[in-house]
Amino acid sequence: MISFLFGKVRIVSSTTDIADIVKIIGGDHVTVTSIARGNQDPHYVEILPSYMVKVRKADIYFMVGMELDLWAQQIIDGSRNRKVMVVDCSVEINKMEVPTGQIDASMGDIHRFGNPHYWLDPENGKLIARMVAEKLINHDSKNAEQYQSNLTQFENDLNSAISIWTKRFSDLRNKNIIFYHNSWPYFSKRFGLITVGFLEPKPGITPSPSQLNQVINQIKENEIEVIASESYFSDRAPKFIESKINVRTVKLAQSVGAIEGADSYINLFETNLLILAKAYGVSYD
Ligand SMILES: [Zn+2]
Repeated sequence: MISFLFGKVRIVSSTTDIADIVKIIGGDHVTVTSIARGNQDPHYVEILPSYMVKVRKADIYFMVGMELDLWAQQIIDGSRNRKVMVVDCSVEINKMEVPTGQIDASMGDIHRFGNPHYWLDPENGKLIARMVAEKLINHDSKNAEQYQSNLTQFENDLNSAISIWTKRFSDLRNKNIIFYHNSWPYFSKRFGLITVGFLEPKPGITPSPSQLNQVINQIKENEIEVIASESYFSDRAPKFIESKINVRTVKLAQSVGAIEGADSYINLFETNLLILAKAYGVSYD
């Protein structure tokens, strides 16, 4: 078993989405583990000594970046692995919601570099994959051809999936929606959903009764049919609203492994789009 592992590039990533892409690009030449589980809130990860042990032997660490996974730096520092190459997957991303004015604590958990949930646009999955391939090729040039061809295959698979999804789920376009947390601007832009509000009054702040009343008014005024939550939130606030007004609540996969069906990067989108199409009662054949 040890000889089987010998020579593989050892990779740790902050999230399961990046880990899945690393697996696709790296194939048999890499081992990869994600620090956060798919059904975990990626903003807040408790730092455990076992995570530092994982990073101690790693060759490359892939971060989400944009301050989503600030905890990753603590794990990397704590690992005392001086040789690990730390890669920020967000550098090539066209960033949304970059704040322009002053930022202060009263705004909640605002990210200085923009909204960090960029992996929820499948086009950005290609940019993550290119970054992963580039770093693997640099680190392990003898398998460069394999990494390159896995990248091409993944880009082709994603391209055809994206063109199928945009046709198949075109009835989701211009649907009003409320999300629990602001994880979905990249996803919504790609698939044409219109975000009217959030259950969180500010990012990272638990919904207050007055916020929930405001959301109920928004639902009335904008004829909102669906509230979508990240898998890690409690059902309490969405179910409370559902008990007061005619609206459907669903859970979506914010990461690979968050909910049943979202077992790969491509299946994450397929699963979320199907859940939304069913919730709105639109056709998706
Ligand atoms: Zn966030």
